[in-house]
Amino acid sequence: METQLYDAIIIGGGPAGYSAAIYASRAGLNTLVLEQGMPGGQIATSDMIDNYPAIPSCSGSELGQRMQDHATQVGAETAYGMVISIERSDQGVFTVQTDMNAYQSLSVIAATGATPRTAGFKGEDTYRGRGVSYCATCDAMFYRGKHVFVIGGGNSACEEAIYLSNVAESVEVILRRDQFRASRGMANRMLSHDNITVRYQTSIVSVEGDTFINSITFKNNSTGIEYEEHFEAGSIGIFVATGHNPATDLVANFVELASDGSVMVDSSMATQTPGLFCAGDMRAGSLRQVITAAADGAIAGVSAYKYVEACKETL
Ligand SMILES: Cc1cc2nc3c(=O)[nH]c(=O)nc-3n(C[C@H](O)[C@H](O)[C@H](O)COP(=O)(O)OP(=O)(O)OC[C@H]3O[C@@H](n4cnc5c(N)ncnc54)[C@H](O)[C@@H]3O)c2cc1C
Repeated sequence: METQLYDAIIIGGGPAGYSAAIYASRAGLNTLVLEQGMPGGQIATSDMIDNYPAIPSCSGSELGQRMQDHATQVGAETAYGMVISIERSDQGVFTVQTDMNAYQSLSVIAATGATPRTAGFKGEDTYRGRGVSYCATCDAMFYRGKHVFVIGGGNSACEEAIYLSNVAESVEVILRRDQFRASRGMANRMLSHDNITVRYQTSIVSVEGDTFINSITFKNNSTGIEYEEHFEAGSIGIFVATGHNPATDLVANFVELASDGSVMVDSSMATQTPGLFCAGDMRAGSLRQVITAAADGAIAGVSAYKYVEACKETL
């Protein structure tokens, strides 16, 4: 049996992937989304998304399902499976191999996302979403008037601390070493905020509680001494700001990577390989929000359409 040739294969069924599918399908491209898990990507694990315009409050799994339904309504197919490799022939046809099947396409949009790095303390996973967060833009509102800790010493940790200082009562940065990795300018800007303090040479070892965290064990990294502090349950938050791991293994041979491992794209989401586009959290400079991932997907979908049209004209 001859393998079907798609116009666009989209790897990843998160906000970037399904937005790309909607735009590509509506432009008339024969479009397939390949997803290894639940529709919605990272938001599928989030109880509440409350910053997507016109949808003030919606569970992440519902929003993800609605994105997939919308893409299906306009003609995009979804197939489940983990993509394990991408190849591109000299004629420019992509072969996308999953753990179940191989698919061919004239263009590929990779929208495989990024995973926030964890800090590694005991209880981190248990209290994820109940005191432990990885995104100030997403979750700061839950900590209005409360005390929050920010773990990390890079530029993004400083940015998170500044963002949180406008919402939380007070912010304490937990810094493993005695100086910041962030640029001096960024660190000084953060330190100029009255309600931000720094606990130098300190790590969080573990957190405990019932529904919410009520105690944290810290370690003084210069003396090795551990000590526990108690809090009223629900009165504190811990924001882990140690960076993201963009999921770029599949495309690494075809693209230019930025120093943080994310993919360099131009304003049309094109990579240096013709016909390969990258969108959402995996691309360099992303705000890493649902709305920006969806916007990237829209741009990538239209760019794939223009690319495929040009290919067909030259056939
Ligand atoms: C707990 C949590 C809460 C959040 N809350 C908010 C919020 O309130 N508001 C907000 O705007 N943002 C929020 N975010 C951020 C938001 O979820 C991301 O910015 C957004 O999901 C990025 O979309 P994406 O499509 O680029 O990637 P992702 O959502 O990461 O989707 C990537 C998809 O690709 C799939 N995939 C990866 N590799 C493969 C492969 N090899 N084969 C097949 N499929 C693959 C994954 O399974 C996944 O479904 C939150 C994130 C988290 C983790």
